[in-house]
Amino acid sequence: MTTPAPAATTAAPAQQIDTIYESTLRQFELAADALEMDEHWRTVLRTPFREMSVQIALRKDNGELEVYQGYRVQHNGSRGPMKGGIRYHPHVDLNEVRALAALMAWKTALVDLPFGGAKGGVNCDPATLSISELQRLTRKYVSRIGLILGPYRDIPAPDMNTTPQIMAWVLDEYSGRNGYTPAVVTGKPVSMGGSLGREAATGRGVMIITHRILQTLGISNESPRVVIQGFGNVGANTARLLTAHGSKVIGISDISGAYHNGNGLNINDALEYAKNNKDLTGWSGGDKITNEDLLTLDCDVLIPAALGGVITKDNAGDVKTKVVVEAANAPVSFDGDAILGSRGIPVVPDILANSGGVIVSYFEWVQNLQQFRWDEADVNNKLEKLITSAYDQLVTLAQGRNVPYRMAAFMIALKRVQEAEIMRGT
Ligand code: NAD
Repeated sequence: MTTPAPAATTAAPAQQIDTIYESTLRQFELAADALEMDEHWRTVLRTPFREMSVQIALRKDNGELEVYQGYRVQHNGSRGPMKGGIRYHPHVDLNEVRALAALMAWKTALVDLPFGGAKGGVNCDPATLSISELQRLTRKYVSRIGLILGPYRDIPAPDMNTTPQIMAWVLDEYSGRNGYTPAVVTGKPVSMGGSLGREAATGRGVMIITHRILQTLGISNESPRVVIQGFGNVGANTARLLTAHGSKVIGISDISGAYHNGNGLNINDALEYAKNNKDLTGWSGGDKITNEDLLTLDCDVLIPAALGGVITKDNAGDVKTKVVVEAANAPVSFDGDAILGSRGIPVVPDILANSGGVIVSYFEWVQNLQQFRWDEADVNNKLEKLITSAYDQLVTLAQGRNVPYRMAAFMIALKRVQEAEIMRGT
């Protein structure tokens, strides 16, 4: 099923995407070195299990034909069915999806879920598509990759620019061919078998991890100053929950730009505004600054929750935070990471910090298979228990081996995936 990636309809900035792909590979090699893993095992763990690249020819509402490229990469499934989101973004390409699929494999292993790792994406700009175009595109994408999906094969979920509504179309399209199969996709609307607590789960996990790292680092500020890039599902829920638990969010941003108030922004007002206006364009609740300046604001916690590759060698030297908590996938490049490390700024890696989403996706899958619904408090308690346990294991290893958190996270994950491969007889 592997095919070379045809040219994308929208050109991607090669530098950024290579950075995410190469950063992920280089992080892998560092952890493999620390584990003294031989070259054969590195090849097994580094190589995707299966890659699919599909053409999506979409007839637009105005009659024009637009051709998009869709991908699904299944990195490793030795610990269970493949699991990973679907991203709609003009910059999606095969290398980006490969990197994100590998990160999913390490994430599910790190938090000890019985899943492998996968990722999907379509190189479209959803902002230019009508709701009916979005539905047709989604259905076509699912019909193309449907062969390799299934509740015990590969289970997609939301990612950037994909919503519970889109997951409902994924379920409907798949079920039309295979019979009603709610466990084939997670992040669905609650009315379609989604789990209570799933929508806020990634942000809730980020909040829990932020509180834990502040404790570990001994940053005892009663009201830590937090800066968050991205105000979508992850960023907005993180801002809401951190504010509700005493943090002062002094900077937020989205595609419209960034907003700053050193005394704390009114996050409830921003949430209300974004809900009514689609995003923060025109919000007057803070001083308008650039997204670049947001990342270098003086703060206690910096939480990138939008794109990958936003903290690099070009700006890592200017970052003024006590800790970075990676809510987005791969927001800090390999070189950026090294610079932050040399400046004594710890980074809590994405594969732990944003794992709340896949943890509650796992709960949703379990509930779907059992045809039984848990209440929200139960979901939230189970999430806290699982993510905290993974955090404690990671910090214990990082302190014991005196390695950065990301290195410890990769070491735990690689070892678990390798163990499963060995037990399977690889
Ligand atoms: P989303 O589409 O809901 O929100 C993305 C946000 O980023 C929007 O507010 C958008 O305006 C903003 N944004 C886009 N371009 C920007 C730019 N150049 N500068 C600043 N902001 C910009 O997406 P999401 O689901 O919140 O995902 C955000 C990140 O979190 C992604 O990296 C995703 O892979 C990761 N993630 C998401 C989940 C999940 O459950 N949704 C789980 C784990 C990781």
